[in-house]
Amino acid sequence: MSTFDVAIVGGGVIGASIAFELAAENLRVVVLDRQQPGQEASWAAAGMLSPAPDSPRDIPLTPLGRESLSLYPQFVAAVEEESGKSASYARDGAIEILLAPHGEIDRDQKAAEYRLLDLAAEAISLGAAREREKSFTPEARAALWLPEEATVEPRLLMAALLAAAQNRGVAIRAGCRVTSLVCEQNRCLGVIAGGEKIEAAHVVVAAGCLSGDLANGSAHLARLLPTRPVRGQMLALRHESFRLNRVLRSERGYLVPRRDGRIVAGSTKEEAGFEKRVTAAGIRKVLDAAIELCPSLAAAEIVETWSGLRPGTPDDLPILGPTDVAGLSIATGHYRNGILLAPVTAKLVREWIVRGRTDFDAAAFSPLRFDRALPSRAEPA
Ligand SMILES: Cc1cc2nc3c(=O)[nH]c(=O)nc-3n(C[C@H](O)[C@H](O)[C@H](O)COP(=O)(O)OP(=O)(O)OC[C@H]3O[C@@H](n4cnc5c(N)ncnc54)[C@H](O)[C@@H]3O)c2cc1C
Repeated sequence: MSTFDVAIVGGGVIGASIAFELAAENLRVVVLDRQQPGQEASWAAAGMLSPAPDSPRDIPLTPLGRESLSLYPQFVAAVEEESGKSASYARDGAIEILLAPHGEIDRDQKAAEYRLLDLAAEAISLGAAREREKSFTPEARAALWLPEEATVEPRLLMAALLAAAQNRGVAIRAGCRVTSLVCEQNRCLGVIAGGEKIEAAHVVVAAGCLSGDLANGSAHLARLLPTRPVRGQMLALRHESFRLNRVLRSERGYLVPRRDGRIVAGSTKEEAGFEKRVTAAGIRKVLDAAIELCPSLAAAEIVETWSGLRPGTPDDLPILGPTDVAGLSIATGHYRNGILLAPVTAKLVREWIVRGRTDFDAAAFSPLRFDRALPSRAEPA
């Protein structure tokens, strides 16, 4: 049996960021991952750092996204300094291209909505947009400039984060699947992993779309962890004479530049269970959107295709915070924004564990929100 101050279940961007942050508090931290950490959703992501809402359901998330975006420069600097590895963070802004006939009206409405949410957004002419990014379609009707948006390369970030956490003394156990949480009298005492009991004063569930499995038959834990997989298919393109300098997106898809010249195109949003297959229909959809946005990409080489499973939740919002089981916190369900939200999630979890509270109002993300509508429970955790 081993004993830690904090055991984190899951070594994706969320678990690794929390570990990195907590290790700065001189806590003994272990990250447990059923495989090599950083190979799931966090590996598959595009790496856009965009707090702009995709739909009205995302609006409660905007303040959290804005806060995380503002933490990014110092977060990345600390990770890079501790690891000696680059995460390829770039704050080059993003351009939204509107293609519908009434694109200018849509664009002005969007700009007004974004500004009400305290997001920097500027309606610019197509000429001004073309000075920043040459190759978007002549069919474009309007452009919106989002100067504060940034990008990071998720696979590089993951490698840097894991090395940085280890350098701060975090124990990382790969190939170590947590089969259950050890809970007695409404207190979590640790986990069972690989048949071994690992004791910890605090357990943090950060197991992405598989978090719900840890309920292990407990209806109460299942209500705290209602995660599901939402598949996203992606591809990477390369074109010798096509250079993208910043994120370009339309209503139907997005293009994200990589430092080595590749262009990542995404993505689908599919309820396909835990099936990570890349499908003909999925790739066609992503390619159609990419070529519609930048027709010259029709000649690009497809250098990679992949898919990943986003951790979805019933209301599309993350599940963040302490629970009514003492010693058990949850940090999952980041759905389409886990890369963006990693720094703020790590900061909040550190504050909950170290100070018992946080100044940021995170009530909308409480793990208890799914329980509130239900009658009081008589069942132990
Ligand atoms: C195609 C795609 C594009 C995306 N693009 C963006 C983007 O541009 N910007 C953005 O901010 N977000 C993006 N996302 C979302 C982002 O990738 C996720 O929200 C984020 O990676 C979730 O991180 P995580 O650490 O919670 O989960 P994961 O990265 O899935 O990590 C969970 C870890 O838990 C481990 N695990 C699971 N069960 C157990 C167990 N029982 N015991 C031990 N370990 C376990 C897994 O092995 C895994 O390593 C995208 C996602 C996809 C799929």
